Amino acid sequence: MLQARNIVKSFGGQDVLKGISLDVERGELISIIGPSGCGKSTFLRCLNFLEHPDLAEVRIEDVSLSCNGRWTRQDEAHAHRLRAHVGMVFQAFNLFPHLTVLENVMLAPIHVKKIAANQAEIIATELLEKVGLKNVKDRYPDRLSGGQKQRAAIARALAMKPSVMLYDEPTSALDPELSEEVLSVMRALDNEGMTQIVVTHDMRFARAASDRVLYLEEGTIVESGDPDQIFAHPQEARTRRFLRTILS
Ligand code: ADP
Ligand code: MG
Repeated sequence: MLQARNIVKSFGGQDVLKGISLDVERGELISIIGPSGCGKSTFLRCLNFLEHPDLAEVRIEDVSLSCNGRWTRQDEAHAHRLRAHVGMVFQAFNLFPHLTVLENVMLAPIHVKKIAANQAEIIATELLEKVGLKNVKDRYPDRLSGGQKQRAAIARALAMKPSVMLYDEPTSALDPELSEEVLSVMRALDNEGMTQIVVTHDMRFARAASDRVLYLEEGTIVESGDPDQIFAHPQEARTRRFLRTILS
């Protein structure tokens, strides 16, 4: 359902992504691991053109977009359609502080999809129940724990009915038990068949929950495979070195 070909991106002469390609099947949960600064966030942001790649071809569902450095208004219109298929969740939650949890989740369906408020409320309430936040739906974000905020951010992304969810270190700001609340929501979504790509430092989650793990270093995919290959039988010396460092 997602095909990315040869994503290249540099910042001020520094080659950050050196031609990354990825095909994702519907329902897959893919973890992206790798050292800080290797291009993980840039890759996720290029997938939905939040960052303009120097070179890329991306197809998500029925929307294809290729670019070669120039960025036209037509590209922006395509990117807009492509992003409609993508939900994105960041480390820093990014909820609107002046809106309740329920209002945060209702906002985009009302303003972007032009759904009637009462219908949006029904959808939002169902999603908040799914992520275990129905009882705090009328609270403002500053009255939530970090784990609750992140689950609200997931519900907000889901409200747009994305085909794929992208997460950039969704649990890095959280204590272990609050992380677990978030990861279990992601596991439940996986069981329902959601397609998810997760940048994570949580090796336990990457190993236990992923269908596929990508190891990124210096802007290239060094190795990809099922979790058993990557964690128990890594083929590449660079993968082994990274895992030794991070697991020790
Ligand atoms: P990761 O998420 O793996 O830690 P990033 O994708 O955030 O890595 O960054 C990869 C490299 O690109 C880093 O060297 C970072 O400093 C650089 N970089 C990222 N975003 C920008 C930007 N907007 N401007 C300049 N350099 C950037
Ligand atoms: Mg990052």
